[in-house]
Amino acid sequence: MADLILVWHRRDLRLADNVSLAAARQRSSKVVGVFCLDPFILERDDVAPARVTYLIGSLQALQDRYASVGSQLLILRDDPVKALPTLAQALKATAIFWNRDVEPYGRERDRHVAQALKAAGIEYQVAWDQLLHAPGEIFTGSGAPYTVYTPFWRNWNQKPKADPVATPTQAEGLSSAEKDAAASAGVIPLPTAKELGFVWENELLLAPGEQPARERLEVFCESERAIADYGEQRNFPAVPGTSHLSAALKFGTIGVRTVWAAASAAQSRSRSDESHDNIQIWQQELAWREFYQHAMYFFPELASGPYRAPFKDFPWDDNDDRFQAWCDGQTGYPIVDAAMRQLNQLGWMHNRCRMIVASFLTKDLIINWQRGEKYFMQTLYDGDLSANNGGWQWSASSGMDPKPLRIFNPASQAQKYDPEAEYIRQWLPELRSIDTEMLVTGKIPQNERDRCGYPSPIVDHKKQQSRFKQLYQQQKASN
Ligand SMILES: Cc1cc2nc3c(=O)[nH]c(=O)nc-3n(C[C@H](O)[C@H](O)[C@H](O)COP(=O)(O)OP(=O)(O)OC[C@H]3O[C@@H](n4cnc5c(N)ncnc54)[C@H](O)[C@@H]3O)c2cc1C
Repeated sequence: MADLILVWHRRDLRLADNVSLAAARQRSSKVVGVFCLDPFILERDDVAPARVTYLIGSLQALQDRYASVGSQLLILRDDPVKALPTLAQALKATAIFWNRDVEPYGRERDRHVAQALKAAGIEYQVAWDQLLHAPGEIFTGSGAPYTVYTPFWRNWNQKPKADPVATPTQAEGLSSAEKDAAASAGVIPLPTAKELGFVWENELLLAPGEQPARERLEVFCESERAIADYGEQRNFPAVPGTSHLSAALKFGTIGVRTVWAAASAAQSRSRSDESHDNIQIWQQELAWREFYQHAMYFFPELASGPYRAPFKDFPWDDNDDRFQAWCDGQTGYPIVDAAMRQLNQLGWMHNRCRMIVASFLTKDLIINWQRGEKYFMQTLYDGDLSANNGGWQWSASSGMDPKPLRIFNPASQAQKYDPEAEYIRQWLPELRSIDTEMLVTGKIPQNERDRCGYPSPIVDHKKQQSRFKQLYQQQKASN
């Protein structure tokens, strides 16, 4: 009889190009997946219903995938430190394999699971899967982790990238007696997002599961106007010029080696230097993703506060009414409000707009970036600690980025990136009849605002900008 190996899935919700799964299948013909709905994560106050919906849909799809190769994905709903050794013992599993994570909570949980398995005499094996280069592979000349992106990218880019790993096409699953044992050890049917207390009724930008992610990658890398135009199109929020793969990369419904291979193939097919460079700009975004994950791994303190000293005790205004207006898309600044309404309705926001609204919250409303970071986590279906924290710290100027202050002018941003106000009109239907110039500059007369039921600007950009600079200089001087 073949040894049973359990593969503990976390943010690798797929069979294809999955390092630990491929290793488990290479070692034994009997491989069964397990996912643990961790109450510690699900009961936090920053869980987005859209994200849970994507997660549950992807688990459903993964169960189907396991069934299609002859095995199962088991679901637990408990503390993994307790639940996994109990299940492994009940099934007399030889080993548990899993892919490593960079986040502080995940790393600590994994250490405890490993200890508990060791104590129970069950082998475990871990590997890196979610990154093209694991933490520890990319160091500065003096052997330190990078704190600046550009040299990280140069080093990261010149290193050879691994090919996708083999996808199991057949695996032996549990017998009916073992299924009974699994049920006694806590295995449950997959609950719906609603049963877990999360309701998301809007459509997701990308459907959950492996297949939609794979198809999305193919469309993006193989169709005419997508990856090869990325450099030009990516900044215009009214244009679908980006991949929409963020949730797939966050939950691992697609393997990052597969993503890299598709982008590299598109690059070798490219017929002009321009498309070649545009594809490289997209690859640089994948490197940003890895830069922030490495940063979180080596500097876990980023998760709980600013990296730079002047921001440690910054005298934020933290006005609650203004914060609420920002959340609701009611600041009176059309580009900011359009973006926040997109976030609230889609559970996703275009990257250019994430930068605009983050700058607005921190530099115009002078509200602590951590409140914005949390609101994003409460709403984004691709919400990811490393990328979100990195994006917020970059926008607030509290992070590793060497540029001291970056303040976005909402009007110049809209004029440059939404010149016809298409995005603004899409997300602010009450302003559809307003003149384009007024929408992009934000200079909408009061009578027009009243007529459309649209608020007056809640702050004055120029005044707030100089106030913020003043506060920053004071903080810098006192640190
Ligand atoms: C304030 C702020 C918060 C953010 N929060 C998140 C978040 O919670 N989750 C998240 O995945 N991204 C986050 N980003 C990064 C970026 O906005 C999204 O990854 C991107 O908009 C997703 O759309 P896409 O898949 O079409 O991206 P594409 O432009 O097609 O990029 C391809 C992939 O590269 C990665 N990526 C792109 N830009 C970045 C970046 N700046 N940092 C890290 N990874 C990047 C993503 O995995 C993305 O799917 C944030 C950015 C900012 C400024």
